[in-house]
Amino acid sequence: MTIKPLIILPDPVLRQVSSPIAQVDDAVRKLSDDMLETMYDAPGIGLAAIQVGIPKQMLVIDLHKEGEEKQPQIFINPEILRSSDERSAYEEGCLSIPDYYAEVERPAKVTVKYVDIAGKEQIVEAEGLLATCLQHEIDHLNGVLFIDYISRLKREMVIKKFTKAKMRA
Ligand code: ZN
Repeated sequence: MTIKPLIILPDPVLRQVSSPIAQVDDAVRKLSDDMLETMYDAPGIGLAAIQVGIPKQMLVIDLHKEGEEKQPQIFINPEILRSSDERSAYEEGCLSIPDYYAEVERPAKVTVKYVDIAGKEQIVEAEGLLATCLQHEIDHLNGVLFIDYISRLKREMVIKKFTKAKMRA
């Protein structure tokens, strides 16, 4: 397993739309291992392939609590089938926008269709943190970031801050 470098705001790669994965083969399994390794190293609770520069529809999530065993979850070609009218707010962060957090309101429950790492189609009804995390990561596959949901003024400030940091680096 390899820890891959993370793509950081304002890299335009983050705005790319990812394409579906046609077949779950060794390359896809290797990528999922590398993504999990990269996410655990960061550390984070979710990562989309585009965040390591690969525009493929795959994301990994692990919501295990401290002291519990790891619970890696891999979602290939995820698609939201239904979203609840009920909404919930979480303070979100993103490995591509380090050390910035903002409250985002999203549907509280989502039904998501995806392909698992064995190549089998699955459906999950998610709520709570998993629902938020899935929506955040699926947004990445469409080039959408959580800062797109905050005010324009705040978003421009964040982008400016990261642009300056990049120029210094
Ligand atoms: Zn993110």
